[in-house]
Amino acid sequence: MEEVPFGVPPRIYNYRCSKCNYKSEMNEAIIDTAYGWSKKRTKTSDGETIPVLECPDCNRFSFVCID
Ligand SMILES: [Zn+2]
Repeated sequence: MEEVPFGVPPRIYNYRCSKCNYKSEMNEAIIDTAYGWSKKRTKTSDGETIPVLECPDCNRFSFVCID
């Protein structure tokens, strides 16, 4: 039986709403999709451009990547 090596685990992004302070983790797949529909971007400390999402709690467009 052939062993299949594990791939790189999907990256997790920590998000926080700047309006209501709701926090959640977003995975790579969600972020990848968001590049398509979210027009707003923020930059992380390591220079990555990350889309701004809609807050799942208050539904405002203020859910930003903090890490
Ligand atoms: Zn919110």
